[in-house]
Amino acid sequence: MSLTINSERLKQDIEDLARVGRMDDTGIYRMAFSEGDMAGRQWFKQKLEQAGLEIYEDGAANIHGRLNWDGETPSVMTGSHLDTVPGAGHLDGALGVVVGLECLRRVKEENVKLRYPLEVVAFTDEEGRFGGMLGSQSIAGKLTPESILNAVDLDGVKLVDAMKQQGYDAMQALHARRNPDSIHTFLELHIEQGPILDQMGFSVGVVDAITGLFRWEVSLIGTPNHAGTTPMHMRNDAFQALAGFSSQIQRILDENGSERSVATIGKVHISPGAANVVPGRVEFSLDVRDTDKGVLDELRNAFRRALSAIARRHDVMFEFTVLSEIQPVKCDVGLIKELIAVADSLKIPSLQMASGAAHDTQFMVTITRAAMVFVPSKEGRSHSVAEWTDMEHIEKGSNVLCRLQLIRQKEIFSS
Ligand SMILES: [Zn+2]
Repeated sequence: MSLTINSERLKQDIEDLARVGRMDDTGIYRMAFSEGDMAGRQWFKQKLEQAGLEIYEDGAANIHGRLNWDGETPSVMTGSHLDTVPGAGHLDGALGVVVGLECLRRVKEENVKLRYPLEVVAFTDEEGRFGGMLGSQSIAGKLTPESILNAVDLDGVKLVDAMKQQGYDAMQALHARRNPDSIHTFLELHIEQGPILDQMGFSVGVVDAITGLFRWEVSLIGTPNHAGTTPMHMRNDAFQALAGFSSQIQRILDENGSERSVATIGKVHISPGAANVVPGRVEFSLDVRDTDKGVLDELRNAFRRALSAIARRHDVMFEFTVLSEIQPVKCDVGLIKELIAVADSLKIPSLQMASGAAHDTQFMVTITRAAMVFVPSKEGRSHSVAEWTDMEHIEKGSNVLCRLQLIRQKEIFSS
């Protein structure tokens, strides 16, 4: 079991793919079903072909490269996404796909005897031109005819039309659903997109959970009034109420959250919005995240209580609408342990951590044992051309991932 990746070849692939969909501003533009995305898909298919792997494109246009596929034995699957946000860096998603490809190539080159077929997948529209994680949702059976028909991008282009233009029938995405018995394990390697591994000096992160969130739009409603003639004690100042609420966020997290809880007020609108008028109304966003459902429930209640108390104190009213709620997801406990053990055996110190960003694994975990391997993002930068991971870390993360796929070949499962 001494199989390691060919890091020169992997580096070359990363560099080659980084040129696909790159524009003059040096950002990468491979939004789902755009020209750049189609070129990325073509690049990947060509690589799979050169490697002698079986190519299968499912109804959701997910591209699968397969080794030893027999249509019956469940596969050990790995992968990520090739599509990008506009102006993207070169590693988000792409890295997990090329590392998966490299692992399969090495296994094939070494003629490793496989008990389970290996599969590398490039998921469609992870980044959300049409809502996000279309490919993994389709495999997990989460799509409906309505969700497909209603999906539009920011310019109003329908998913069905964008796919049709590239020769796909969007409704076929319903048939991309996989029988859970056909997948043995799913692993995704991804850049962290945050600062933790880089700052703490780890090459590898083993993700044990993906954070869930709730996001509210909150309004505090007081009375707009003259800033000169209204005494302080006669005001219903909506901004002062917000300031009071905001100063309690850390306390609320300390008392009701976990070490992993975070809360953000990222957008504020004050009206009427003049220097000489007491603010009559503020609208702001509140985004709260944690990896534990119970903790999120606690926080939801605590924030509601705090808003209510603040509103009373400042004599304003409050209302809120829920903009979104995403449940946190736990990765497979057995896989987490194995990943840590593999890293230890390779003398690579690893950090067990949460993923603060959403990933395809979130949907894969609903149908199979799934986990993620993170590699550090330099200075935590992502979704930008500044995205960077040193090859040394990529190599270590890749070897952990490859090794685990092979260990899974031996495992007998009780779960
Ligand atoms: Zn990604």
